[in-house]
Amino acid sequence: MLREHPKSYWIRTYGCQMNELDSEMMRGLLERRGLFRAQTEQEADLLIFNTCSIRDLAERKVLGKIGQLNKAGYRPLIGVTGCMAVAKREALFKKLPSIDFILGTNNIADLDEVLDALVQGHPLPIRVDSRFREDLDYLIAKRDDRVKAYVSIIRGCNKACTYCVVPHTRGKEVSRPPKSVLEESLHLRDQGYKEITLLGQNVNSYGKDRPEWNCRFHDLLYQLDKIQGLERIRFMTSHPVDISLELMQALRDLPSLCEFVHFPLQAGSNRILRKMHRIYTKEAYLAQVASLRSLVPNVALGTDIIVGFPTETEEEFQETYDLYRQIRFSVGFLFAYSRRKQTPAHRWLDDVPQNVKAERLKSLLALHEKISSQELQRWMGKEAEVLVEEALPEEGLLKGRTRCWKKVIFPGSLNLLGSLQTIRIEGLSHQTLQGRLLTQASNR
Ligand code: SF4
Repeated sequence: MLREHPKSYWIRTYGCQMNELDSEMMRGLLERRGLFRAQTEQEADLLIFNTCSIRDLAERKVLGKIGQLNKAGYRPLIGVTGCMAVAKREALFKKLPSIDFILGTNNIADLDEVLDALVQGHPLPIRVDSRFREDLDYLIAKRDDRVKAYVSIIRGCNKACTYCVVPHTRGKEVSRPPKSVLEESLHLRDQGYKEITLLGQNVNSYGKDRPEWNCRFHDLLYQLDKIQGLERIRFMTSHPVDISLELMQALRDLPSLCEFVHFPLQAGSNRILRKMHRIYTKEAYLAQVASLRSLVPNVALGTDIIVGFPTETEEEFQETYDLYRQIRFSVGFLFAYSRRKQTPAHRWLDDVPQNVKAERLKSLLALHEKISSQELQRWMGKEAEVLVEEALPEEGLLKGRTRCWKKVIFPGSLNLLGSLQTIRIEGLSHQTLQGRLLTQASNR
């Protein structure tokens, strides 16, 4: 059946930062084809759901949303992209026949071809490649944020954590050429961006798949740090095993590299870590934290934790709790285990009862809140360098972040957006620092 060329689009994004970046890339591709962004999803001729498969809840949300559209009775073109598209493939069509195409995480560059085929009446309903091809034109990305931007440096993951669907949905590691990363970063700097976050499922693996480049992650950071005007560089995520001494030295030495490391622990019991196939022990993890803190004393650490992994006992959860308290993470993404298809752990009995998982999560969240409040209290009366990221709806208030990712709110005028300011911290509310502008540096 021939379909009309869609004129407008709407993309709904679920999940991680890489998905957000992929949506920005798709917006660029669609606008290059002449489509405009609809004001609401009801007005769009093309709807794209860029999905996540990490948790069951994320999948159910997408299925529910597409189901509601069917009931509402209007008929835009519907595409499903992202991890769920890879994980479910044909099963999605069976469940929701109104879907017109499915594009895998490694197939964003195929969006043009798939849309052409659809309107010509020769649909290519499923495009799912197991490996990423580095053939995206990154410079076309359309971002809403004018201050900070995500930059992809490596896709896929060669690890095999038993709970994780990413090796299945995103495939093996593929590094992006350093020249391309530098080119995009310069382009962003020229557009006025002040901060970039380098993205990858495991950024520390950067370049391992391309030894001939002679450029590992820390080498890339040294090159990026030379870009004048790019004030801040962040990165995520790092597998603890791959955090090298050279990377820690880069964190110590490079002025633009922010002192914040997302460093997923996942569990504090060695038996559970083995069962998760995290390939480190808690002792090795602690040693990495100690080395990092000795080189970069003011580094802030973020982490991911899964509670209620199959067979986790109360004592083993307590080990996680104790380690969390010992390390004092500044940022924590804490979850109760949910069983995912296409993962090794799916074969195992999900034997920790839901109420026990919920209790463990609650107690860890309470610990996190306590540590986080104590850490924030330490800022009282101090001065912080803040990158001004956005204006809040409350008139005259601006929001920004410190180098170690603390949120700061302060009164100021819109012309400060995108600038670095010194703020004296004078209050604390809802895990957010409140302060007063000391300098009024112009937008650099
Ligand atoms: S390191 Fe483990 S948790 Fe992270 S993406 Fe790879 S397999 Fe998944």
